[in-house]
Amino acid sequence: MNVEQFYPLFLKSEKAVIDSRKIGKNDIFFAFSGENFNAATFADKAINEGALAVIVEQKDFENENKNIFYVPSTLEFLQKLAIYHRNQLTIPIIGLTGSNGKTTTKEIIHAVLSEKFNVQYTLGNLNNHIGVPLTILSIKPEHEMAVIEMGANHQKEIEFLCSISQPNFGYITNFGKAHLEGFGGFEGVIKGKSELYDYLKNNKETIVVNENDPIQVEKTENYSPKITFGKESSDYKFDLFSEEHFVGLMYNNERAVSKLTGEYNFTNLCAAASLGLHFGICFIQIKNAIENYTPTNMRSQIVKKEGRTLVLDTYNANPSSMTASLHNFITFEGSKTIIIGDMLELGEESEKEHKAILHLAQGLGFNEIITVGKNFKQINTFTTSFENTLELIEYLKSNQIQSENILLKGSRGVALEKSIDFI
Ligand code: ATP
Ligand code: MG
Repeated sequence: MNVEQFYPLFLKSEKAVIDSRKIGKNDIFFAFSGENFNAATFADKAINEGALAVIVEQKDFENENKNIFYVPSTLEFLQKLAIYHRNQLTIPIIGLTGSNGKTTTKEIIHAVLSEKFNVQYTLGNLNNHIGVPLTILSIKPEHEMAVIEMGANHQKEIEFLCSISQPNFGYITNFGKAHLEGFGGFEGVIKGKSELYDYLKNNKETIVVNENDPIQVEKTENYSPKITFGKESSDYKFDLFSEEHFVGLMYNNERAVSKLTGEYNFTNLCAAASLGLHFGICFIQIKNAIENYTPTNMRSQIVKKEGRTLVLDTYNANPSSMTASLHNFITFEGSKTIIIGDMLELGEESEKEHKAILHLAQGLGFNEIITVGKNFKQINTFTTSFENTLELIEYLKSNQIQSENILLKGSRGVALEKSIDFI
């Protein structure tokens, strides 16, 4: 069975799923074998639940059902099918990568472009070698555009994801200190993320450039086609303003206020607005999209609790986003407590980076600093520190935080959000 033979059946399907609990009528179930289970045992169940077809890789799997297909590798079949599907599509595809802000930017681009088009986009954070093909396969004939988030923590991953998504437009949100371990330092990050540029250049596709980012400027010098923003001479120029810690952008004297906090979100908004303008959406519609987009995903989110302001940024953390977050939070009026969690996956740089963040936090002058996680604990002999979120919760049960503003920021693994109910 090759993908070409399988494709007509795919076209009749509702959606592609990899989670046996989410199978619906006419879905295609890609059975991945886990450590503790044999995916093939789910095959019959999937068909009984209405799946149109099941892809399995167990050699010894015997079945009489003609809609259960044996392949050598489920993953490879999924990826190849996605590439085949991509090759049939003629709609513009926008590819995103970067160290921080991919999901936020993807969500805002989706909101903006949806003012005029039917746009498909990456759901949640499904940005890897499985999520990208699933997103591509979710593009239906009624879609007029798609926005695809691509994540990576090693070299050559973006190259591979580009070979699947084949973007016509591409934007790198930023080059930051994230996944330093896998990429091999900051230079490695630049190289790895720039694989998106390499793809776009090789295929003469359009690069979206933030001209305030010197690395983006250098990497795309003398290249066209480009869509630029950030400078007076750029295609699009926006001005930053903020209203009660919410970031806003101004375009030709028109103002749009987002529900996002953190100045770094300004560039995310600019990228989305630039694409919107490029595709002929007027600023009034863009403003509408930006003002109605409400983050609910623990990224740059503000929550009011018993008269206090909580900034929730617990989805992830690395030195760049932590630095940006602290600088943003210090501008809040009133007393301020920060609860910062470990920044994971930093490899050799870990101790140095945690020290730098603690140093920065102390220098900025917050009223109270609480750290959570082993990395901070090792170096934090100055302020309150806990090994993990459970310890923090125990502390919070008998100690109320007094500050009017509280920032929660840490890596996914630290799961600081679990403490919210106790604050
Ligand atoms: P992941 O690698 O987990 O998919 P991501 O790149 O999708 O992350 P988001 O989830 O959008 O990033 O944002 C995570 C956090 O990164 C935000 O809450 C914020 O603290 C920070 N951030 C967002 N945008 C930027 C930016 N342009 N520059 C620096 N930091 C940013
Ligand atoms: Mg993301």
